[in-house]
Amino acid sequence: MNWKGHVILGLIFGLPFISSPEQIFLVLAGALYPDLDHDVKEDIVKRGIIISGGIVLINILLYFFKKSLFNIDLFVLGVSVFLIFLIPYFSEHRTYTHTIWSLFFVSIIIGFLSYKLSFISKVFAGLISLLMVTNEVLLGKIIIYAVFVWAILDIINLNPNINGVLHYILPVAVGYYSHIVGDSLTPAGVRVFYPISNYKLRKKGGYILIIFWLIFVILFCAKNLNLIG
Ligand SMILES: [Zn+2]
Repeated sequence: MNWKGHVILGLIFGLPFISSPEQIFLVLAGALYPDLDHDVKEDIVKRGIIISGGIVLINILLYFFKKSLFNIDLFVLGVSVFLIFLIPYFSEHRTYTHTIWSLFFVSIIIGFLSYKLSFISKVFAGLISLLMVTNEVLLGKIIIYAVFVWAILDIINLNPNINGVLHYILPVAVGYYSHIVGDSLTPAGVRVFYPISNYKLRKKGGYILIIFWLIFVILFCAKNLNLIG
């Protein structure tokens, strides 16, 4: 599936769970991250490695030479972001970045990073996550979809009531999930448990994941409308 398919599918999957512009950017970040393992995205990955590697290096230097300025939070976050760029750098197409392990790991890291940055501005935090996985060309192409969904959100005015760090992690995870579903519907399939198992998720499995998503949407909406517990 190409970027356009992933963007549209991601926004459809994400829409029931989001209510604000930063969450649109986070859904898109989750939906686009897995294909960073593509050679054509190497510039984005290298840029990410240099920036996050720089943050890690500065923190290591501070630790040894100016310990009072060393920040453990920033260090851990820098190392985590460094890792989420190293994964696609060393991945062959549709291997590590297209697994459930990476869905959890990357969603938590990107979501947590945005949560940490949200003290500056929520929209800024969401945009930074999207900038991490796109270049100027791709960003220019997808921003129109984001603006369109932004308008829809303002019109339907959903309030999914997700607070704290989950407000940032969930949209990334749903976007990521949509990517795996999208690729499972293509002839090549996806090895979602790689490298532990070479089982390939194909069309049938993809349809089951769509049903899981639908059930989740229904439960989520019922909870928000106070129909259940
Ligand atoms: Zn893919």
